Amino acid sequence: MDTKISFYTFGCRLNQSETAVVTQTFKIDGKYKIVDFGKLADIVVVNTCTVTENGDTDTRRLINKINRINPKARIALLGCQAQIQKNRLTTLPNVNWVIGNARKMDFLSILKEDEAPKIPRVITPIIPRDTFKVPANGIDTTHTRANIKIQDGCDFFCSFCEIPYARGRARSRVFEDITREAAALVTAGHKELVITGINVGTYKNSQKTIIDVINALEQINGLKRIRISSIEPTTIPPKLIKKMTKPTKLCRHLHIPLQSGNDQILRKMRRKYSIEEFGRFILKAYDAVEQICIGTDVIVGFPGETEKQFQETFEHLRQWPIHYLHVFSYSKRNMAKSHKLPEALSPEKIAARSAVSRELSLKKRRAFYESFITTKQKVLFEQCKKGYWTGLTDNYIRVKVKTDQKLNNKLVNVKMKKLDNQALIATLG
Ligand code: SF4
Repeated sequence: MDTKISFYTFGCRLNQSETAVVTQTFKIDGKYKIVDFGKLADIVVVNTCTVTENGDTDTRRLINKINRINPKARIALLGCQAQIQKNRLTTLPNVNWVIGNARKMDFLSILKEDEAPKIPRVITPIIPRDTFKVPANGIDTTHTRANIKIQDGCDFFCSFCEIPYARGRARSRVFEDITREAAALVTAGHKELVITGINVGTYKNSQKTIIDVINALEQINGLKRIRISSIEPTTIPPKLIKKMTKPTKLCRHLHIPLQSGNDQILRKMRRKYSIEEFGRFILKAYDAVEQICIGTDVIVGFPGETEKQFQETFEHLRQWPIHYLHVFSYSKRNMAKSHKLPEALSPEKIAARSAVSRELSLKKRRAFYESFITTKQKVLFEQCKKGYWTGLTDNYIRVKVKTDQKLNNKLVNVKMKKLDNQALIATLG
């Protein structure tokens, strides 16, 4: 009987893209039966995340759940937590493999060396700085959009972030390896590719930059949209904005992490820009690109953040043409420099700042959506829920249409009618 294996992913788009690739290596091998997570499996692979404190708790909870529903399963923990918390992870019940980021893509061959190790195998070598290739195409037909990894790691060392330790220093994927996988993803039916990495604006391979990657992807027949997952403000090439002002497959959507709207906190965070520079850039992009959607990340409750500094952040976010926020409550990461900073804020204060920031995000998103009522847009539809097909415009508006037609993975013209909670209701045509 085939060994049954299931996969679970925590965290970011990059993790999702990597799980898709690892899963694909098992599909190509053909000797294992891949089952949905939660079904009975012999081996459960978890791609872990360490970005927030919850990441650690979530892993523990998931392992308990796996052991409850699948008591005989052998568990493999891959990725960021495996890289930096191997000792703790090996003590968790039924964990047989702890594989860091340098080797996680090789899990199939590691498994074949010993399918039932007596003691946990820990493989967490230092992550090399070399350019890299990816061993398979991350085809995942359960999702409409596919992630395409172009880069990994980061050299910025922001003081709150463990990623340079968990994922290593910045390195780029071989250019031809990206275009090869992208073409395969499009042939498999994906109409939208999301450019993914840790610090994608720093991409460099044989003098090629992120702009060259976008230009090459645009040449792929059948590909309709290219989206950038998130890009650091200081790495955005001027050509990128220029590109969005002309006919292009590149979505009019930028997610640019701000983190704080106060210069002193930004310095403590070791971010590389001032508020004035960030604001100038946002306004420039907003003025240049018609109907652009701009999103950002903000961390509330960084050590020493005063009420006044938080209000300054809030006011900037309120005034700037930013259309939604991803709000993160500051959490101490052991390897990050900020963990030694004094003046930690109380959990209650952090929760209160987080709540008002999330409320602001809701209001801003709603206002942005409302400004599109009566306009015509193109939507790439994803799935049908309770009679409504939902999908996204290129500028990241969630749209719902009630219809009997099957719209899965179709790019369709719609007319925006009214706001419904966190989406716009539209009609076809
Ligand atoms: S840019 Fe800063 S926050 Fe982003 S991964 Fe690098 S160190 Fe972390």
